[in-house]
Amino acid sequence: MKIAIMGAMPEEVAPILKKLGSYKTTKYADNEYYEATYKGVEVVVAYSKIGKVFSTLTASTMIQHFKCDRLLFSGVAGGINPNLKIGDLIVASKLAQHDLDITAFGHPLGFVPGGSVFVQADRELIELSKEVALELGTTVQEGIIATGDQFVHDARVKENIVKHFNADALEMEGASVGVICDALGIAFFILRAISDTADTDASFSFDEFMESSAIISAEFIMKMVDKIVD
Ligand code: SAH
Repeated sequence: MKIAIMGAMPEEVAPILKKLGSYKTTKYADNEYYEATYKGVEVVVAYSKIGKVFSTLTASTMIQHFKCDRLLFSGVAGGINPNLKIGDLIVASKLAQHDLDITAFGHPLGFVPGGSVFVQADRELIELSKEVALELGTTVQEGIIATGDQFVHDARVKENIVKHFNADALEMEGASVGVICDALGIAFFILRAISDTADTDASFSFDEFMESSAIISAEFIMKMVDKIVD
């Protein structure tokens, strides 16, 4: 077993690296990868940088170069579902690319021929997260995550994403990571803690809560890892 744990920003993986203690840093494809043995299991940690392209590159590298056989993503997201408050956890049941748009040819938003609008996350890992939440006395809400190369801070954009995907949260990496894992047959799990609600004040909320929410997500991810290696 070799577990990939990724985030998009340094703040998202810092709490994970802290937990690992010592690790080996390897430079590859213009990024850093941190390799460690955690409770007897090999793990590879990295932050991809923001967006679909960088996250695709990192996920692909972790699987194809570092030979990870499952992938857990930890990070922050903008909440859409009003039940999701700042700091709340959402685990993706399925994800879509909200900015993949060839609707001009009659296709649904998020669809390209040969692909599908949604990519499904691994059911077993989702169920495992519910056990972990129960044990910790916390809640993880399962829901749909929409991904795009855009920091959303506009209620109208949010509404449009709900209309097309019925999404509960949005971010900038989950679906691209999911598509890669799905194509390579690797079980994946996308966890996000809410940092903002993607409205006009989203950037202020993000700046205030990104770090604390990133910690909430990272701590939960490490409990997932504990459970997986058990
Ligand atoms: N403050 C950063 C930019 C953050 S971009 C800088 O200046 O460098 C937002 C990041 O958090 C992305 O990785 C994305 O996945 C997630 N995110 C949180 N809230 C979001 C929102 N409202 N819209 C899109 N992505 C969001």
